[in-house]
Amino acid sequence: MTGIISTDVLIVGAGPVGLFAVFEVGLLDLKCHLIDILDKPGGQCAELYPEKPIYDIPGWPSISAQGLVDKLLEQVAPFKPEFTYNRMVSSLEKLEDGGFRVTTDENEVFEAKVVVIAAGGGSFQPKRPPIPGIEPYEGKSVFYSVRRMEDFRGHDLVIVGGGDSALDWTLNLQPVAKSVTLVHRRAEFRAAPDSVNKMYAMQEMKQLEFRVGQVTGLTGADGQLSSATIKGGPDGDIEVPCTRMLPFFGLTMKLGPIAEWGLNLHENLIPVDTEKFQTSVPGIFAVGDINWYPGKLKLILSGFHEVALMAQAAKRIVSPGERIVFQYTTSSTSLQKKLGVS
Ligand code: FAD
Repeated sequence: MTGIISTDVLIVGAGPVGLFAVFEVGLLDLKCHLIDILDKPGGQCAELYPEKPIYDIPGWPSISAQGLVDKLLEQVAPFKPEFTYNRMVSSLEKLEDGGFRVTTDENEVFEAKVVVIAAGGGSFQPKRPPIPGIEPYEGKSVFYSVRRMEDFRGHDLVIVGGGDSALDWTLNLQPVAKSVTLVHRRAEFRAAPDSVNKMYAMQEMKQLEFRVGQVTGLTGADGQLSSATIKGGPDGDIEVPCTRMLPFFGLTMKLGPIAEWGLNLHENLIPVDTEKFQTSVPGIFAVGDINWYPGKLKLILSGFHEVALMAQAAKRIVSPGERIVFQYTTSSTSLQKKLGVS
């Protein structure tokens, strides 16, 4: 077979956890190739909430999600990882020499001694709200994530939903939008109480409108919205100005082809041990949001811990018999050389 790309570690998913895996295996001299369905690195951070600040990354009291991705890319640069974007890893086959052959949906073939699945929620798709005729507006004036807050400046914005994303974006976009109407089918929210309180305070000050009800109709032309109809509230049917709409009805998690790889699964997640974060197939590891073990928290910092332990086990597979010396980056000249800092 020609055109096979060989590497030590093939990482499925270039989200924050896949990126930090490059660093941890790089310190142990393993080369990586990452494949992602998206057209850029960063996973959920880059795709779903790039401008939102994250407050629970150790050592960063506050860092934007895209800022974290940029810092991770800077941190892994010395290890020269290779990336293939816009490709879904579709099949995986075990080779006789113990390694793996992985094929993408565009038929590129990769061979690696170790596969690390860092696929987050799989290929995540926003749930489409049940609003008739919404399709022509999607990607033009209806969006399921906020890539740039500036895109909403000066618009009559309708945000639909009652979870954290809906409440967070209501608060964050209020200063830039011309008007903000939050629509939720009831007055109870599934969001942080602090955000809900802030939203009600802003409503008191007439800085935004909260309406109980459901969006049942859209008006506009050529993909550009002009108004939305809200039904079911105490004021009866009303029409509100709407030139941009952000529905937040959650994400569907599609594990996709990974489900066909013969790995044990637990409710669409991949069970791993907590010593190596290895799956039911030796040589295939799962880290970050995609894995499951008792007590698992879907946090970026959990994924960072997982890749540090996974790297030790991956090294033993790629370089059997080689002694692994535990070293600190602060004091090891050999690690510092790898990082290009000494
Ligand atoms: P992801 O970020 O999901 O990346 C996985 C990547 O794998 C994706 O890019 C996907 O395209 C790719 N992929 C999937 N399947 C395939 C395939 N078959 N082939 C190729 N590529 C594939 N966490 C915190 O710790 N603190 C916070 O404050 C915080 N806030 C959040 C706010 C919001 C609005 C959201 C949605 C999440 C938040 N999180 C937060 C959660 C955090 O973003 C996730 O825990 C983190 O992104 C998981 O990283 P990951 O690398 O495991 O997966």
